[in-house]
Amino acid sequence: MGRIDLHTHSTASDGSMKPAELVRHAKRCGLAAVALTDHDTVDGIEEALEEGNRIGIEVIPGLEISADFDPEMHLLGYFFHENYRRIRPVLDELKQRRNERNPKIVKKLQQMGFDITLEEAVRESGGSVVGRPHIAQVLVKKGYVASVSEAFERYLSHGRPAYFKKSRMTPEEGVRAIAEAGGIPVLAHPIYLYLDPEVLEGLVSRLKNVGLMGVEAFYVDNTPVQNREMEALAVRHGLVATGGSDFHGKFKPDIEIGIGRGNLEIPERALQELKQAAELSK
Ligand code: AMP
Ligand code: ZN
Ligand code: FE
Ligand code: FE
Repeated sequence: MGRIDLHTHSTASDGSMKPAELVRHAKRCGLAAVALTDHDTVDGIEEALEEGNRIGIEVIPGLEISADFDPEMHLLGYFFHENYRRIRPVLDELKQRRNERNPKIVKKLQQMGFDITLEEAVRESGGSVVGRPHIAQVLVKKGYVASVSEAFERYLSHGRPAYFKKSRMTPEEGVRAIAEAGGIPVLAHPIYLYLDPEVLEGLVSRLKNVGLMGVEAFYVDNTPVQNREMEALAVRHGLVATGGSDFHGKFKPDIEIGIGRGNLEIPERALQELKQAAELSK
């Protein structure tokens, strides 16, 4: 095998590369396997799988959904049964929440004096999942901020003036929804829960009780110490320690697929263990 990456985004959500392009990019960067984990959609997966078959790189179907949590919780899901038939109603619901939230964000920004529209964000997205990164991109294009991350830091992040809640699924409901659709549920980037170690420990054990099978231990924004701590957390709970770069193409220009900011190392065994988990859950 070789390098792997279990967390990436395409134009199907808020990445800048088309699914096939992302798969070619992964191959060019020397990856042996890549998971496509778009927010709230499986729309990019078929194209990615086809391209993977064509050029000879393993593509793992996946997605990333948000659960209701302060400030935010993301759950990754891998594999799935029956052409995602059973996860689709969940994704439709999430998309509806998004479509209720996005106009609130834009309206607030308009009230703050920015000349932007929802249509511009939709155009920026090029797909059906419209999110904050697209709104941020409009603010960048119009010169209101210098970068997407500045837009988040000033306006769009939790606690900032144009933040509005989206998900109404509890963490437990999110894990169950993925598991019941034949997916392998993994807690994404635990550092962004900003929890004390003992609280995180309790949360992981609660989520394991409803079907959690992995923790994203090796993450682009982790320090080396955090990588080891999150891996140990996974091991303590008998969960798979997965890893990913959270690649978004040019929307996160400092992050490269497979290696993050250059020092990310995602162990190959994470994929083998995910597959074993998928086998066992059949
Ligand atoms: P949404 O799903 O529309 O709420 O947008 C969430 C996405 O925005 C995340 O998954 C990231 O891709 C992106 N994001 C969140 N916080 C930041 C940040 N501080 N800087 C850049 N991108 C961010
Ligand atoms: Zn994203
Ligand atoms: Fe995330
Ligand atoms: Fe992500």
